[in-house]
Amino acid sequence: VEWINEFEVVKDLGMGSFGTVKLVRDSKSGDLYAMKVFDKEKLRNKWIGATNMLEDVEKEIKILKLMDHPNCIKLYEVLDNPENEKLFLRLEYCEGGQSMLFDAPLISRMNTWFSTAPFSMDQISVEPLSEDTARRYFIDLLDGLEYMHDNNIIHRDIKPENLLLTKDGKVKLADFGTGQVLSEGEDTIAFSPGTPAFLAPEACRKGQYSGRAADIWAAGVTLYTFLHGRSPFICANPLQIYKMIREEPIGFSSHLSPDCRDLLRRLLDKDFRRRIKMKEIREHPWILQGSAE
Ligand code: ADP
Ligand code: MG
Ligand code: MG
Repeated sequence: VEWINEFEVVKDLGMGSFGTVKLVRDSKSGDLYAMKVFDKEKLRNKWIGATNMLEDVEKEIKILKLMDHPNCIKLYEVLDNPENEKLFLRLEYCEGGQSMLFDAPLISRMNTWFSTAPFSMDQISVEPLSEDTARRYFIDLLDGLEYMHDNNIIHRDIKPENLLLTKDGKVKLADFGTGQVLSEGEDTIAFSPGTPAFLAPEACRKGQYSGRAADIWAAGVTLYTFLHGRSPFICANPLQIYKMIREEPIGFSSHLSPDCRDLLRRLLDKDFRRRIKMKEIREHPWILQGSAE
């Protein structure tokens, strides 16, 4: 790389609206890392509501520094030279990130298929995962999410494309830019943008809601997506998706085991007061089936 001499770019890993992620190699050790690159000038000029995007990146860094868990992406270093217009986060590299259900372009297409052109289901769906594989991934997700919640951090953008797969098939949570750090014991957060198809019903309205319960809903939509190969909320009109999330009953594949369908139903309970809690998920028969093996 011309900007940081010790690292050479191997390839592009991903692209967000405010940064790119590149696979880099440490020229001395040969070790691989994911380098998330931000353009500071662009961030400074970009506002979403009252939030400047540079503040968002600072929050992402703050959260990354607070965390230390095998199911959360590790931050090794922040490279922020005042003379350089770019800011770099050197992150742990997850090389299985491109597996089909985690395919970012595909998932984005599923989430934002807001076109007037007709589309067919096979354009927005992939082969579902088996219950066993989905359970393994989901338990990894739970481990990371429980750690965050125990440390008073809400993720707010749980979805397949923010889950990364390691070489040996472990799932890690990534992308903490939309996260929120709460004070001890606090649970409510205000409206946050997130990704429409993964927003909890109570988060589609104005006002305060439980951050933890909304993350659990998004984990439920993610598990649904693993098991069906597509998101439960697909509609051609962006304004209708919120109504769909709030009002429309969700159907589950009849191929799924009764325990599996029961867990999905409880995760995707539209009433957040009744929705299953982290502790109860751990004790659910479908989850326990995994630890019995
Ligand atoms: P954004 O905030 O722009 O969504 P992300 O942190 O989610 O950025 O990264 C964008 C994409 O880059 C991810 O969906 C993933 O495909 C890829 N990516 C990010 N971090 C890593 C990593 N540590 N290892 C492998 N791929 C990654
Ligand atoms: Mg992301
Ligand atoms: Mg982000």
